[in-house]
Amino acid sequence: MHKLKFFKSVQFRLVMIYLLLILVAMQVIGAYFVRELEGQLEKNFQDSITNSLTLLDYSVKEEMLKNSDNSAQLQTNIRGLLVDYARNNTNLIEVRIVDDKGKILGTSNMDNQGVVGQKATDNLIKRTLSLGTTEDNIYLEDNDNGGGKRVWVYSTPIKNKDDILGAIYLVADIETVYEQVDDVTNIFITGTLIAMIITAILGILLSRTITKPIIDMKRQAYAMARGNYTRKVKVYGQDEIGELAESFNSLTKRVQEAQAMTEGERRKLSSVLAFMTDGVIATDRRGKVILINTPAEKMLRVPHESANGKSIIEVLDIADQFEFEDLMEMEEPLTMDRSTFDEPYVLRANFSVIQRETGFVNGVIAVLHDITDQEKVDQERRDFVSNVSHELRTPLTSMHSYLEALNDGAWRDEDLAPKFLEVTHNETERMIRLVNDLLKLSRMDGGREQLDKSFVNFTDFFNHIIDRFEMMKKDSITFKRYIPREPVIIEIDEDKIMQVLDNIISNSNKYSPDGGQISFYLKKFEDEIEISISDQGLGIPEEDLGNVFERFFRVDKARSREMGGTGLGLAIAAEVIKGHGGRIWAERNQDKGTTIRFTLPYSDLPEDDWE
Ligand code: ADP
Repeated sequence: MHKLKFFKSVQFRLVMIYLLLILVAMQVIGAYFVRELEGQLEKNFQDSITNSLTLLDYSVKEEMLKNSDNSAQLQTNIRGLLVDYARNNTNLIEVRIVDDKGKILGTSNMDNQGVVGQKATDNLIKRTLSLGTTEDNIYLEDNDNGGGKRVWVYSTPIKNKDDILGAIYLVADIETVYEQVDDVTNIFITGTLIAMIITAILGILLSRTITKPIIDMKRQAYAMARGNYTRKVKVYGQDEIGELAESFNSLTKRVQEAQAMTEGERRKLSSVLAFMTDGVIATDRRGKVILINTPAEKMLRVPHESANGKSIIEVLDIADQFEFEDLMEMEEPLTMDRSTFDEPYVLRANFSVIQRETGFVNGVIAVLHDITDQEKVDQERRDFVSNVSHELRTPLTSMHSYLEALNDGAWRDEDLAPKFLEVTHNETERMIRLVNDLLKLSRMDGGREQLDKSFVNFTDFFNHIIDRFEMMKKDSITFKRYIPREPVIIEIDEDKIMQVLDNIISNSNKYSPDGGQISFYLKKFEDEIEISISDQGLGIPEEDLGNVFERFFRVDKARSREMGGTGLGLAIAAEVIKGHGGRIWAERNQDKGTTIRFTLPYSDLPEDDWE
């Protein structure tokens, strides 16, 4: 989980909000309070001085009226009054009296008695004398040290009825008032700091009650993202966050259900895709493979999971013929022939476009079928029809020409007519044989013909068939039997196996040269018997050994026809042996000639069972 930086957290922001609110509140209260306090303290200070001035004012006025003609006496008396007054007011720096002309009559400052008799220069005094008003002001007094203190300067007229007799001028040290205000301000700042520290601590604790459930939900969301739905958010109360937590829990349940459903669907889909025999490829809208099932990988022979992300036209190996856009417009299935020299392999692909209702193309789905077998069957059917037509046309053409010759008058010719009739007779027989063979094969193909099996002593059965051939054979050919004396009992369809042996032995007879030998073998194994018929004839070329069991296959077409063969004998034999659960194959003999071998299932029945 990505760790959230503390100063970016909601908790930090909440604490900051508390702190800023406290700060603003304290600032506003402080500013107002300090201003009020300052005004009040100033007023108290000034009142304490001016209240006691009434008496001085009265005393000075009396002295001025009494000693108006004796200025030396007046100055002495005034000095006495001022010194007294100054002694009782500790904050007073100096108090002076001036007459109505602005001349200084006295000062309380004993060190500065030199100014007595001089003219007062202060503007405040001038205004008081000329207007009869009381004036005051606060100045910053320079001192020798560079720093300065604030002083309060006050001047008030001394009046006798409406006449202005002079003025009282005083300077008082008001700095103490401001020092008091500063002290209060400091207390205020300290108080604010303490309040902020307490607020910060409380803020952290209080905001945790809000952020803890949120952090819980955040963890839950991360857990959900990792697929863990078992976690639940704790509901702390019935407030908005509590409700949010409850909705979050029900959301988790819903997501879990939806996820389970999607997962189920996904599993269903993937097992359907995996178990279907067709190959399926899905692409995105750019043609990149996003899904390919195992049958498709096998059909296209691409390594497992290597096709994902590749372009479909590369995976199908059709990039040289098509663009991805062509596949989207392709309505007919695409046949892809991947046959090699020794293995036929044909695939067919059907494409369909995945499209939204809006027409937006999401991708393409290709379904692949392996149609090699179907193609082979089709090809075989085409070959079969053309072979049958050919096989029938040859005897028909020859019969046609002989009959035409007879019709044209050859019937009158006593020598030719019987010969011509014999040829047409032979051709008719060959055609009957062919049609019979075809019917047999067709019955076996459709599986319509049930095998009519019975238990037979195969040694007797085999010898009997060989005897029959031995009677008809040419003298120049010798038969050799390698057949055990004891009975070999197996369950077969006698007629059909007889047909198989007839076909094989008559081939050996047909293809044996004069003086040749045909050998018959019967071998018994644990679970099968093997029958072999070996001749010393032309032999079958190596590459055709497998083909001789195919319908109408002949190594030498002209020769075979000449000998009356239909090209179906070994094909019928193969079908019959297959029906009995055996195998059949041809081998080239080491010296010369051919051996045809086949097996039949055999089980060594106990004697008493048989009896
Ligand atoms: P056919 O009626 O032409 O003999 P078969 O199906 O019996 O048809 O045999 C198929 C072909 O196999 C023959 O045309 C022949 O070329 C070859 N063949 C079969 N048996 C032998 C054999 N014993 N020796 C040589 N060639 C054989």
